[in-house]
Amino acid sequence: MKKSTYYPTRRKFVKRISQGTGAGLFLSASMSLLGSACSSPNQSSETTSEASAAPARKDQLGLALVGLGSYSNGQLAPALKQTEKCYLAGIVTGTPSKAQEWKQKYNIPEGNIYNYDNYDELVNNDDIDIIYVVLPNSMHAEYTIRAAKAGKHVMCEKPMAVSVDECQQMIDACHKNNVKLAVGYRLHYEPFNQEIMRLAEEQVFGSLTGIQNNFGFTIGDPTQWRLDYELAGGGALMDVGIYTIQAACYTSGEEPISVVAKEFKTDTEKFSEVDETIHFTLTFPSGLKAECKTSYNQNYNLLRAEAENGWFQLDPAYHYGPLIGETSKGAMDFPQIREQAVHMDRFAECIMQDEAIKTTGEMGMRDMKIIEAIYQSIEENGREVALAL
Ligand code: NAD
Repeated sequence: MKKSTYYPTRRKFVKRISQGTGAGLFLSASMSLLGSACSSPNQSSETTSEASAAPARKDQLGLALVGLGSYSNGQLAPALKQTEKCYLAGIVTGTPSKAQEWKQKYNIPEGNIYNYDNYDELVNNDDIDIIYVVLPNSMHAEYTIRAAKAGKHVMCEKPMAVSVDECQQMIDACHKNNVKLAVGYRLHYEPFNQEIMRLAEEQVFGSLTGIQNNFGFTIGDPTQWRLDYELAGGGALMDVGIYTIQAACYTSGEEPISVVAKEFKTDTEKFSEVDETIHFTLTFPSGLKAECKTSYNQNYNLLRAEAENGWFQLDPAYHYGPLIGETSKGAMDFPQIREQAVHMDRFAECIMQDEAIKTTGEMGMRDMKIIEAIYQSIEENGREVALAL
């Protein structure tokens, strides 16, 4: 397809954004992140053993990662080499060999290395302001609540927890201890997804007439915790279907009033405990519907909106990048950023300036209410389940 002049060039985009206030500050930070990822070998390499961000600057908050699995290792730690407002100050791990490896690789002081038994002693550590919970889903609530009790701000990975009750307890604990809580919904500060929100909100192609969101992948190792109900709390829906719920809400600008869902299972052994594929339809107060699919057995990664006078979509939409955006008037042209770095920086900035982050615990709890309603609809053979959010 011929590239449309409808979309601003990258330079124009930066200029347009930087004329705003908070968003400008923020997007120019994103651009510098992109620039450093492209041009600075010291900052972009994931394999070098140089100090990550220590020693701290006075204008940076210290962050500790809890759980050093694939997301921490492959995405968050590299992103923390690029952050401006926070840095990797500590780790919490149950594996002594990982502690040593990370200590060396990221120059983490011995006193900032914790395990799951002495985790609560973080209360005495002034180097650490933010705890980032990157554990299996069913452990999110406990480690968030304990972090809040230690007086630390918390970023918790998605899904926020495995039940609405847990989400409420996490929100209450953070409120009681006067700390901020964010959920790892990294796409809210990602330019292509932000453009989807703008096109919908400003009705650039007219009112929306339909949304179609699909996110699925073929899951490997049958012994992993994602297939264990006790640790995961659910299957594809909890893990990646949650992105389609998120996208339906931030594209429509509404919250659903009901849901209808159906589950499909082709491998009853591998998926004996959790869902494999779910199709669901969210209905919004305006009458708009979002048709969503999620799967652990099929690959898709789409966010598409149909409107009165055209359409716009991302495919892929939910990955770490590169993302690809198109509209009925041509391609989107936005910088590819390190989404996690921007999100963590924004959270640190919100803490320092006592501002609200978009990706609140309340938003995480809303999504869990929708997830519970989807499972209820499946249990009740596709009955339409009403939502009061
Ligand atoms: P992972 O399996 O790679 O890592 C999990 C970590 O938890 C490991 O370090 C493991 O040692 C530790 N752990 C502690 N107790 C455990 C137990 N009882 N069983 C299993 N592991 C235990 O998982 P991951 O892919 O890093 O996912 C961690 C969290 O991050 C999940 O909640 C997931 O949904 C979320 N995640 C988010 C994104 C995103 O894009 N926002 C991407 C990937 C994962």
